[in-house]
Amino acid sequence: MIIDHDVIILGAGLAGLRAAVEISRKSDGKVNVGLVSKVQLNRAHSVCAEGGPAAVLREEEGDSYDLHAWDTVKGSDFLADQDVVYRFVETSPMELLLLDHWGLPWSRRDDGRILQRPFGGHSYPRATMAADKTGFFEMQALYDHLIRYQNFTRYDEVFATSIIAEGGRFCGLTIIDMATGEFQVLRGKALLIASGGLGNLYGFTTYSQTVTGDGQAMAYRAGLPLEDTEFLQFHPTGLVPSGILMTEGCRGEGGYLRNKNGDRFMEKYAASKMEVAPRDIVSRAETMELIEGRGFTGPKGLDYVHLDLTHLGADKILHRLPLIREVTMKFLGLDPIKEMIPIRPVAHYSMGGIEADIDGKTKMDNVWVAGEVACTSMHGANRLGANSTAECLVWGGITGAEILKYLGTNPKMPDVPEDRAKAEEKRIFHDLMESEGNENPYQLKEELRQVMDFHMGVFRDGQEMSAGLDKVRELKKRFKNVKIEDKGRIYNSNLVNALELENLLLLSEAMIVSALAREESRGAHARRDFTTRDDDKWLKHTLVRFTDDGPKLDYKDVTITKWKPVERKY
Ligand SMILES: Cc1cc2nc3c(=O)[nH]c(=O)nc-3n(C[C@H](O)[C@H](O)[C@H](O)COP(=O)(O)OP(=O)(O)OC[C@H]3O[C@@H](n4cnc5c(N)ncnc54)[C@H](O)[C@@H]3O)c2cc1C
Repeated sequence: MIIDHDVIILGAGLAGLRAAVEISRKSDGKVNVGLVSKVQLNRAHSVCAEGGPAAVLREEEGDSYDLHAWDTVKGSDFLADQDVVYRFVETSPMELLLLDHWGLPWSRRDDGRILQRPFGGHSYPRATMAADKTGFFEMQALYDHLIRYQNFTRYDEVFATSIIAEGGRFCGLTIIDMATGEFQVLRGKALLIASGGLGNLYGFTTYSQTVTGDGQAMAYRAGLPLEDTEFLQFHPTGLVPSGILMTEGCRGEGGYLRNKNGDRFMEKYAASKMEVAPRDIVSRAETMELIEGRGFTGPKGLDYVHLDLTHLGADKILHRLPLIREVTMKFLGLDPIKEMIPIRPVAHYSMGGIEADIDGKTKMDNVWVAGEVACTSMHGANRLGANSTAECLVWGGITGAEILKYLGTNPKMPDVPEDRAKAEEKRIFHDLMESEGNENPYQLKEELRQVMDFHMGVFRDGQEMSAGLDKVRELKKRFKNVKIEDKGRIYNSNLVNALELENLLLLSEAMIVSALAREESRGAHARRDFTTRDDDKWLKHTLVRFTDDGPKLDYKDVTITKWKPVERKY
């Protein structure tokens, strides 16, 4: 069955919702939107965001666009495109004020103004917060605003499997309605991919189980290049052993990092910024402390250092970090008012994604991308905390407006080649589901995550990555023999998990190939065998394309408008 909408939005997280709002309000509810999510709408991973979005709201008190842009460019280890960064810093304040008008209950200062707190790598307190549950409130405010319009259809618990494109244009998205198992095609004049990150490649991660890079993998298979996938961010404070995020707001509020001797070790690594240095630097510092024996022995090999909030006092923890306390109490029976929290670096964010221009437009005429799935080259080699949810809002708004402009040119509803949809249905419901193989997808996923944890961690080297690539390729081969035990159609999560795993395998191969080729250390890509940044050879973005013979690499220039790369010191 084919269902038509003017616009298909794949993903109902912050980026997808913001785009849906923009299309709805600017068209006064006239454009028909299909909003697709593999989970219930308010379970998109964005609800987990804790610390909040970054924006310049206090020019009169000393912050400035230049300062935010400089922090972001320096944080990116000079790989961010500077025109994109400027557009971001100039647009994010308005986005936050819009959310204020749409009812987001920001935390406030005593004078009634919106409260902002320090975050890693920012030289001014600009993480804008609703306590430590900011993502939840952002999602709520956006959805509350969206429902004023009646122009959208929600496709919740609907799993997208592929993008059908013809002649360089999108024509349809193939989906499985999980409640019925029905295979359908959503057809649209335009597609926005806003399907989030890919962090389930890793075992120790802050991401929800649903974040499996489906959008990146579908786009990659459909011929769109992925950019800078080798840059995967490790957040310095993942709770041991679950990996749950202890927001950077903990350190923004004044929390310390201590090794087993009780020392605030950041003094050795970033004396001027200490615990609020950028994430790549703090994660490396923690890893060095662990390697050199100044950490604690943790369960399952998860050695750790301490996040110390005990000096902040009960009042601050209860009002500014209530979720952190709730989580440590529930998961570890530990009260951070009195005890230190065991933490270590944890896979957290993908700087790379589907290549896009400054408007979020991809190489396909009628396809845009926004949010974590996208790479507009705004974060370069290392994202600053709080710049991601703000990016989702900014490019949700921009892509929504761009799509409307495109619809104003009266494009035709594309034809969906029947054989392509049939081939996809056969691939899933015959080739995969009826396979006589004996490989367990959950076992394969567990092995993949171990490979990525071990071979593509905070520090890497050529030998380790090559060995990791061999293992991933072996897992890809074994996937051909995967067995789907559940032969039913209704809520077949066994089938969906296998499709997600196939996506993760494809992306991990692309990521390792990109990382192996980049023979330097920059931002989150820290090599033991090439320990310094090499601007002569590597001041460029990696592009990786899908071919039947494996990932193919290409490169493109970094846009530098204002700041030439200099040594990055904090
Ligand atoms: C624990 C945690 C806390 C964070 N805190 C902050 C913070 O405080 N500040 C900050 O700036 N950043 C933060 N980040 C990063 C930020 O939250 C994310 O980058 C951002 O929310 C991603 O939003 P998104 O809209 O791109 O994707 P998501 O919110 O992940 O939404 C993706 C959507 O795509 C849908 N989807 C995906 N695949 C499919 C498919 N195959 N079929 C159908 N639907 C699909 C999903 O169902 C979902 O609706 C945090 C990240 C983590 C992990």
